[in-house]
Amino acid sequence: MSYFEHFLSANQAYVALHGDLHLPIKPKTRVAIVTCMDSRLHVGHALGLALGDAHILRNAGGRVTEDVLRSLVISEQQLGTREIVVLHHTDCGAQTFTNASFHQELETKLGVDTSHMDFLPFSDVEASVREDMALLKASPLIPDDVAIYGGIYDVDTGRITKVEA
Ligand SMILES: [Zn+2]
Repeated sequence: MSYFEHFLSANQAYVALHGDLHLPIKPKTRVAIVTCMDSRLHVGHALGLALGDAHILRNAGGRVTEDVLRSLVISEQQLGTREIVVLHHTDCGAQTFTNASFHQELETKLGVDTSHMDFLPFSDVEASVREDMALLKASPLIPDDVAIYGGIYDVDTGRITKVEA
């Protein structure tokens, strides 16, 4: 049985817990969180979020990419969010390679030239949070009155430390 089949049977129990809700489409806290796909970070639990509370945008590293900007513009302009949190974490997979090493690896494994792609790796997690906060501040698509915060989640303790811009 695939994991997806397990997920579907787990979902049957979830439906009973969920109940028939009719939450508004606009997030209650008016916050959008940009964070990593890491499986050790359960954003809802870590931040005390309930259904309907916040937008959560996840990718490898929790980096501010073109597509994250696309989602943030929709989040703010269509769905009313007014605050953005950039949340990176310790021991991130984006710290395990460099662009050069990964380009080489993909050439060998897949026979594909990815030298034009930036996989957005980083070595210093505090620096990566600051870099992404600065990208948001500099973007004309993010109005100046949208508050931008940063943090680092410790995957060993669950603790979040604030990063000043
Ligand atoms: Zn990560």
